[in-house]
Amino acid sequence: MKEKMRAAVFEGNGRLTLKEVNIPVIQKDDDVILKVEACSICGTDVHILALPPAVYAKPGTILGHEVVGFVKETGRSVTKVKPGDRVIVKPNYYCGKCRYCLMNMSNHCENIVPLGLESDGGFAEVVKVAERVCYKISESVPTEAAACAEPLACALNGIQKLKPQPGQNAVIVGGGPIGLIYLLILKSAGVSPVIVSEPIPIRQEMAKRLGADFVVNPMAQDLEKFVKSKLETGADLAVDVVGSQMWEACKVVRRRGKVLLFGTNTKAEPKVIQSLITFNELEILGSFIDSATFPVSVMILEKSIIDVRPMVTHILPLEKIHEGIELLRKGAAVKIVIVPNL
Ligand SMILES: [Zn+2]
Ligand SMILES: [Zn+2]
Repeated sequence: MKEKMRAAVFEGNGRLTLKEVNIPVIQKDDDVILKVEACSICGTDVHILALPPAVYAKPGTILGHEVVGFVKETGRSVTKVKPGDRVIVKPNYYCGKCRYCLMNMSNHCENIVPLGLESDGGFAEVVKVAERVCYKISESVPTEAAACAEPLACALNGIQKLKPQPGQNAVIVGGGPIGLIYLLILKSAGVSPVIVSEPIPIRQEMAKRLGADFVVNPMAQDLEKFVKSKLETGADLAVDVVGSQMWEACKVVRRRGKVLLFGTNTKAEPKVIQSLITFNELEILGSFIDSATFPVSVMILEKSIIDVRPMVTHILPLEKIHEGIELLRKGAAVKIVIVPNL
């Protein structure tokens, strides 16, 4: 049997190297070995490879955390999945024992281990994960949609806090893949109009294609003025997917409007006029990665409640991962899915 496989290994200082590494083997009773069907490139991967890095990953780690694959082999105690099952992976291993895990807040687990950042991920032919992070998904879901299950699960965590109502309207600040997923979910929930603010042309086009009622370039137009020209009293809801646009989002919502902060930029320290939040009774909500949202993500994809496929502009083999990262860096792609065995 073959013992080596190809994988994209992070080597520190913005370097990602395609190399032959050992195929992972079962070591623990709850280990599950997956043959990777696809793994999409996340903005996080681009941030890891930036100089200086905007997100930390451990050098020597295989990147990739948005994985769909087929079970090859399982450890002795595994009962949830069996060889041949198709699964998606919750990429943040949680201990299941700490205070937060016991409160069903696994995204805040005190012993969290992120796949593809601190443990070997899915930009490889084979990946090893734990039984508890596997979720079965029907083979009827197209590859590129299944590869978006993780970002969808993350967006759903925010949606559960935002609680959008039919007939409300919204502004999404940032039209990258997560912003576009928010657009699809909000539209399917009866929210209209949805205004997307995004400076990159390919993303603006995609937002229009996916149903945005208005798309604004915040570099060319004042977002607040634009929103108020369409929605006199301001928006009911705003989502900052960028991670530094909190104040922009606060300015576009109406009194008692809700602002969801999803994007993360640890360097951002936006200037905030606190009294406006008080006077306008704004609700500011934080949302960090996925919560218990993977089952809902699977259900939405299996029932085709939203169609994320148009968002995937490129499907590339593992050999072309550098090209994929470069396309994203340049703003020449929206979502890229890597298929190792293409
Ligand atoms: Zn991601
Ligand atoms: Zn825990």
